[in-house]
Order: sequence, then C-alpha cells, then structure tokens
Amino acid sequence: ATLADVHIKTKAKIEAVAAADRFIDDYVNGLKPKALYLHGSFGVGKTYLLGAIANDLADKQIPSLIVYIPDFLREIKAGISDNTINEKLEYVKKVPVLMLDDIGAETMSSWARDEVLGPILQYRMADKLPTFFTSNFNFDELLNHLTFSQRGEKEEVKAARIMQRIRTFADPYLLDGKNYRQLISPKQA
Ligand code: ADP
Ligand code: MG
Repeated sequence: ATLADVHIKTKAKIEAVAAADRFIDDYVNGLKPKALYLHGSFGVGKTYLLGAIANDLADKQIPSLIVYIPDFLREIKAGISDNTINEKLEYVKKVPVLMLDDIGAETMSSWARDEVLGPILQYRMADKLPTFFTSNFNFDELLNHLTFSQRGEKEEVKAARIMQRIRTFADPYLLDGKNYRQLISPKQA
C-alpha cells in the first residue's frame, strides 16, 4: 500500500491523504506534527491507509508500528504472568510512530483503559511521539465506548481523560466511500 494508490477518491479521502502527506513532510523536517484519527465504517480503507503511511515512513527510514488493538489487549492480558508484557509495553511506548488500529472494536476493560492504554498515551505525550488511530467510532462515540466499564459502571472522568489525550494526538478525518471488502469479494466479481 502507498498513499499514491488510494484510488477511490472521495473528497474526504483526498483530504485524509493530503493530511497524511503533510504529516510525513513535517515529520521528516523535524517538526512535531499532529497525527490522524481515521474514522468511518467497516471496509472503507482505514487500516489500508495506515499501512500506506507506514510504508511511506519506512521509505524515509522512519520506524513505525501498527498495533491491532483487540489482539494487542488480548496478548497483554495473556502476558501478565510472563515477563514479555513489559518488553512489549516498552516497545509500544517508545516506537517513533505508533498506529493504534481499530480502537473501540475491543471490549475495553477498565484495566485495559487505565493500566494499558492510559500509560502508553501518557508516555508518548510526554515525549511528543506521534500516535495515529483508526476507529469505527467518531470522538463522541468513542467517549461513550470508553465510559461504560464491563461491570456496567459509568466512569466518565477516566474516559474523558483518555479522550482528551487522543484529541491532543490526532485530528479526526472521516473516511467514506464504498466497502472495499465487498468490492473485492469473489461473489461480487
Ligand atoms: P477498514 O480498516 O476501514 O475496515 P481496510 O483498510 O481493511 O478497511 O480495507 C478493506 C479491504 O480493502 C482490505 O482488504 C484492503 O486491503 C482493501 N483496500 C482498502 N483500500 C484500498 C485501496 N485504496 N486500494 C486497494 N485495496 C484497498
Ligand atoms: Mg481496519
């Protein structure tokens, strides 16, 4: 994937790709640009666009990491008993450009929110390390998702704190257009 072959060009996609290009230029020039929060429905190409940004950064010798949030949280939970958890967390905290894919798709426990996501964002904020996000949710919907714990309790302050950090890291861009997954499925061909 490259930014150049995002070929279904809706107005929103053109804007998102332009913002991604600007991010890369500014970052290469030593600025501390804001990253992107890509939101939109299933299959519009959010993860694909992250991959394109990661590839363009790699061409410029800038390391990045795409983390699929649902798998990552499962892995971290499974890693509690062994020592790999700290190593993984350290890596995610410190990688020059982090991309958190599909935030909101997980069932976020209070623990995951406050002990995993919170500290990662906190660390990266202090060091001004760019962090991208993708989500099916817009900011308001994600706030709602983060507010209700699995036990059904409402934890507005903690959720608001995370949202505040996410807003500081990234500007929202809506991706629209067709669902690529349907376009490329054999049934549709
Ligand atoms: P989302 O993350 O928004 O759910 P994806 O990025 O996973 O959507 O895209 C869905 C499918 O369409 C994937 O198989 C992806 O590789 C493909 N795809 C998305 N955007 C493009 C594109 N610009 N060109 C070619 N394939 C694409
Ligand atoms: Mg995706």
